Amino acid sequence: MKENRIVIIGAGASGIIAALMAAKKTDCKILLFEKNYILGRKILSTGSGKCNLSNQNISPDNYNLNSRAFLKKVFSKVKPKEILNLFTAAGLYLKTEADGRIFPRCMNAQEVVDTLSRELQKPNIEIHTLTEITGIIKKEHGFTIKTQTVKPQWDKESFKPETKIFDCEKVILACGGKSYPRIGGGDAGYKLTRFLDLKISNLSCAIVPLITDEKWPAGLSGVRCDVLLSAFLKDKQIGKSSGELLFTDYGISGPATLDISRDIIQALKTGKVDCRINFLPELSLKEIDAFLKERLKKMSTSSKKAPLEIPFERKNTANKSVSSNISRQKFLTGQAGYFLNGIFGDKISKLILIKSGIEENLPLSEAGPDFMEKLIKNITAFSFRVSEGKSFEHAMATSGGAELSQINPETFEVKGHKGLYLVGELLDIDGDSGGYNLHFAWTSGFLAGVSAGKD
Ligand SMILES: Cc1cc2nc3c(=O)[nH]c(=O)nc-3n(C[C@H](O)[C@H](O)[C@H](O)COP(=O)(O)OP(=O)(O)OC[C@H]3O[C@@H](n4cnc5c(N)ncnc54)[C@H](O)[C@@H]3O)c2cc1C
Repeated sequence: MKENRIVIIGAGASGIIAALMAAKKTDCKILLFEKNYILGRKILSTGSGKCNLSNQNISPDNYNLNSRAFLKKVFSKVKPKEILNLFTAAGLYLKTEADGRIFPRCMNAQEVVDTLSRELQKPNIEIHTLTEITGIIKKEHGFTIKTQTVKPQWDKESFKPETKIFDCEKVILACGGKSYPRIGGGDAGYKLTRFLDLKISNLSCAIVPLITDEKWPAGLSGVRCDVLLSAFLKDKQIGKSSGELLFTDYGISGPATLDISRDIIQALKTGKVDCRINFLPELSLKEIDAFLKERLKKMSTSSKKAPLEIPFERKNTANKSVSSNISRQKFLTGQAGYFLNGIFGDKISKLILIKSGIEENLPLSEAGPDFMEKLIKNITAFSFRVSEGKSFEHAMATSGGAELSQINPETFEVKGHKGLYLVGELLDIDGDSGGYNLHFAWTSGFLAGVSAGKD
């Protein structure tokens, strides 16, 4: 076995696959360095701990990058199926959701990391955790690498960092992006590329929750609903996405928000961004109009009836039972405050009413012609303004990075730097949410590993 042949910096998604693929091609020593205590820390947090590791519909169109041709070459060199086969061959049973997102069948990211860790048990792979690469020098043949041990969290006082310097023939930089510094994201990779004189484009957050100008979302914090979310810059639509939206104490998050956050972040650089929520995207305006008119007719007639006896009551506490009586009576007395309950949850119903300027205790029998007009407007185009995105602390991907013009798409080797490879989120490419970022990380690691493993 030749000594110190291939060094991989970062044991995240791209670095682990690079190590595995290189090990399939060579019996030279492969050194995998990770500054965290464990491998694949970020993988554990993906897909809310379930790891949305790929998508059935992988295409260059799902990525934000300068050159689609680059990704076309990448995906023609390694077909998505080949990546999935790596996991299934290693014993991970996968499942595809109706929307195309692919997860481990057990919906547990830990199983993905465990499966990969088992695969890494090869005689020529050496893993060094709690070790950060702090410098790279390119020599005439190969590279000199500087390492420094990292203080473990549990070590309160006695820690003295150790530094080492050694030579290697090939280096794969798989340090990831800036996002989520608490689990390994940061500047480290970009700093290392400076030693090598590589070009880095501007970095910004992608797939990030958004902060709204208005403070009302705080009152709905934790509420989720299926919507169509559209974003506008100076009245021109810049993006739309459908799916689950989550209200938070600072604004909005959830898949529908994250999916168009990249477009919104870019647009915010040039002006204010207005958003509109359609709370009933599955119905046309005409259908909503007919549906609400019918509902109004029924509910305003019910106001003439005496409140009904409650046929069932909540069991838990006396108080709950009383409040359930009260709401049901009010509902039957046909007040505007309860007109939307049952279509939406209570908080969203109230929000739409307030935005529409409709008094809660307005008897539905007295609802004027503009009642329906205002409601339909705010059900289908509830408007608010986004002030900014959350920081890299909350961003799930980094937009920008090492420029792709420097990279060979078939091997991920840096042009003019023999033996140097850049992979994963460190590159100037970011995917939509839905498994596309991990898919790119696996794929780029795959190609770099295969190439580096060849003599
Ligand atoms: C909360 C969250 C949820 C996400 N969910 C999804 C999802 O469901 N599906 C999806 O496709 N994508 C998801 N992503 C994005 C995805 O995780 C990343 O795009 C992907 O992990 C990038 O892989 P990578 O190998 O480039 O970087 P990483 O996985 O970040 O790995 C880089 C590794 O390098 C280490 N490192 C960095 N510098 C050094 C150094 N100098 N020396 C030693 N080690 C170093 C880091 O500690 C890290 O472990 C999510 C991201 C986050 C933050």
